[in-house]
Amino acid sequence: MALNHRTRLAVAAAASAGALFAALFVAGIAILKDAEMKAGQDELIPALNEVEDAVKANSVTPNLTEVAKANPQISIAVFDSGGHTITRLGSVDLVSTKFDGLMQIGDHPVLLESRDLNGDSIVVGLDWSRHIASTERVELFASALWLPLVAAVGFATWLAAKATFGPLERLAKEAEAFSVESLSSRLEIRDVGEYREFVQRLNRFLEKLEHSVRREERFLADAAHELRTPLTVLRGHIETTLMRSRTPEEYRATLRTLFQETERMANLVELLLHSALPTLERLEGMDLAEAAERAHARWVDRFADAGVTLELHSEPAKVNAPEAEIDVVLDNLMSNGLRASPTGTLCSINVKKSGSSARISVTDEGTGIPSEHATRIFERFARVDTGRSRRDGGFGIGLSLCKRIVDSSGGHIWVEPNDGKGSTFIVELPSSLG
Ligand code: ADP
Repeated sequence: MALNHRTRLAVAAAASAGALFAALFVAGIAILKDAEMKAGQDELIPALNEVEDAVKANSVTPNLTEVAKANPQISIAVFDSGGHTITRLGSVDLVSTKFDGLMQIGDHPVLLESRDLNGDSIVVGLDWSRHIASTERVELFASALWLPLVAAVGFATWLAAKATFGPLERLAKEAEAFSVESLSSRLEIRDVGEYREFVQRLNRFLEKLEHSVRREERFLADAAHELRTPLTVLRGHIETTLMRSRTPEEYRATLRTLFQETERMANLVELLLHSALPTLERLEGMDLAEAAERAHARWVDRFADAGVTLELHSEPAKVNAPEAEIDVVLDNLMSNGLRASPTGTLCSINVKKSGSSARISVTDEGTGIPSEHATRIFERFARVDTGRSRRDGGFGIGLSLCKRIVDSSGGHIWVEPNDGKGSTFIVELPSSLG
């Protein structure tokens, strides 16, 4: 039979208490018996001395009447060297012995003290029956008390365990009712006693869980929505083209449009995949100046084609970050910078060391970011000018991907307005020692 934790604790406590009480009772009774014997001996010794004095005064027929009168509860006997009785007084017929302690004589347990006196021996004794009876009464009382005491300890433990585990059982029942459909449910904090902090932490964890599930749900819905747009465009083009026969030139134009749209979709799927994958956990030592040079080399021609000058100002700045992913961050910042920069403007990449961290920033003189969007643009699918950004090929995923990469490297990314003319995106990463 499986016992519940309350019964298990109560049985364990009762068993321990039972053993402890039994040991205490046995030890207590032994101490009591010992103390009584000592008291008895303390009573016998003076009588023994008095008998010795009387025997010394007259060894042939010692007069012990006075001694017996003064100690009526004590029996006295004197024996010669042959063990023959010289004198015997009192209620117990003492025997010749050299034994000190408790001895059974006839029906009586007797406490004895003896002394040898030039061949004669003196024995004094106390009838111990009364003491034995009182000790037996104490033993009986202790055994009668043992069971109720053990039961009381077991019951008290059961009650304490019930009070301690009661809230946990209730919380477990509440938690059992949770499901993905009831993600907004929280554990009841009322009547949880000392588990308050524990429940609060669990509730905070549930809140985070709900947050992340909602975010994933939103991501899925947004991703489906984003993929639907290019698909609708593709279908529209194909439908219109197929309505009648076309010239080879018209077919070519349609195919070019289809190609552009499929490119856009491929980019979107690529970004979605990248942002759904976990970021690299392993950080490596890398130089931000080298990453900036590589980004400059990759983008300078495309900026020139758009009539935008791309400058590079950098100094060596070693950081701990995944190199390939930092390249992804820079590509996103460069692509945004290029899209935002009108012809004839300047864009620059800057790398600077500052104390225990290093910064790489991309500054443009483009459209700029309104301050109310400065935080929001780092969320997935966030765009300042939805229509234009979509036309330009933006999906609103790039910056959220950048933030995820930079955050998981222990850094920060943020945007600062550039005096109302353009903006500066800054990535700050912890410096490495190397
Ligand atoms: P997108 O794919 O739309 O560029 P991002 O996450 O990279 O997605 O950027 C989110 C939005 O932030 C963009 O749609 C754009 O409105 C704004 N943004 C990003 N970079 C710049 C910039 N350099 N100048 C102005 N606006 C920008």
